[in-house]
Amino acid sequence: MEHRLDLAGLEEHELEQALAGRGQPRFHARQIFQWIHKRGVTDPEAMTDLGRDLRRQLSDEFDLLTPEVLRREQSSDGTTKFLLRLADGKQIESVYIPDTPAQTFCISTQVGCAMRCAFCLTGKMGIDRNLTAGEIAGQVRVLARELGMLDTRFNIVLMGMGEPLHNYEATMKALRILADEHGLAVSPRRVTLSTVGVLPALEKLATEPVMPNLAISLHSTTEEQRDLLVPINRKYGLKELLDACRRFPVKRRERITFEYVMLDGVNDTPEDARRLVRLLHGIRGKVNLLPLNEAAGIPFTRPSDDRVNRFARILADHGVTVSVRKSRGRDIRAACGQLITESARTDSPGKRLATLMSAGR
Ligand code: SF4
Repeated sequence: MEHRLDLAGLEEHELEQALAGRGQPRFHARQIFQWIHKRGVTDPEAMTDLGRDLRRQLSDEFDLLTPEVLRREQSSDGTTKFLLRLADGKQIESVYIPDTPAQTFCISTQVGCAMRCAFCLTGKMGIDRNLTAGEIAGQVRVLARELGMLDTRFNIVLMGMGEPLHNYEATMKALRILADEHGLAVSPRRVTLSTVGVLPALEKLATEPVMPNLAISLHSTTEEQRDLLVPINRKYGLKELLDACRRFPVKRRERITFEYVMLDGVNDTPEDARRLVRLLHGIRGKVNLLPLNEAAGIPFTRPSDDRVNRFARILADHGVTVSVRKSRGRDIRAACGQLITESARTDSPGKRLATLMSAGR
C-alpha cells in the first residue's frame, strides 16, 4: 500500500516540498500549517482559504492524523487527564495541569515505556511503539483545542508515557513543529524534557541549536540501588550520567532539574541526602523531590512528610536549591508515574522487580 504522509507530522519546509512535488505552489504550506497547528482543524475541507482542488488533493493524497479523545477526567484540583486513541487504535494519556502557576501540558512520547523503572506504572506496560512527531505534537493541539487554549500561553513537560530520548528524532521534530511561529509557537524555553539518561541521545541533545530545559530522573545516589530502581543505569551508570550533566551546555540563569522520587525507607535517608549533595557538586542544578504516588502493583510506599522535610532540609543546608512537588491529579491517577492505559491496567504486578527491590534494601 502506498505510504501516505501525515500532514500533521510535517514541518513547514517539508509541507512545502510535499506540495511542490505534487505541482502545487509552496506558499500554501504556511496556510495549511496554520490551519492545523494554530487553528486546530482536523479536516482539509475546513481549510476554507484553499481552493477546492487543493483541498480535495490534500484529502485524497495525505492523512491528517489527530488523536481522538476517548475519555476526559477532571481531578478535584483541576488537573485533567485525557485518554487518547491514535489512528492504529493504540491508546496514550496526556494531562493538563493548571496553575502551577503556569498552565502545563504533560505529554507522552511512546506507547508504554521500555525503561521499566521500578516505581512506575507506565514502566510495567513495557514498550509498544514509538509515537510519531505528529502524534507527539498532536497531543498538545488536541488538549489546547479541547480546553479552549489555542491562544493561551502554556508550558509543556515531556513526562507522560515513555522516555523521550528513546524516541529522539520524533521528539525533536515534534518540538520544532510546536515551536514554529506559524503554529502554536511554544518556545523551547517553555518545554522541559525529562530523561532517565539515555547517554548517546543526551550527548546529541547537547549539540542541538535550540534545546528544551532538561530534567534528569535521578532517583538514587548509588550505582547499586539505581541499577534496581532505574534499570538503564546498568548500561549508562550514575557517574557517566552526572559527568554528561557537567558537560551539558546549561545557559546562564538556567539549571538542570534533578528529579528524585522518594521511596520510604529505600532512598530517603539522611545519608542519601548527603550523598546527593556530593554527587551534584559542580553541576548547575536544582532538586525536585517527588514523594511517591503509591499505586497497586508498585512495591514501595510514600515517606512521611517529616522524612521528606528532613531530606529537603539537608539539601538546602548544603546550598542545594530544592523543591518538594505537590502531587496533582492523584484522585484520577494522573500523577507522575501513574499513566497507564486501560488495556495494561489488568497486567499482573511486577513481582520480579518487587523481589529484586526487597533484596536490594
Ligand atoms: S519513570 Fe519514565 S522512564 Fe521510567 S518507566 Fe516510567 S515513563 Fe519510563
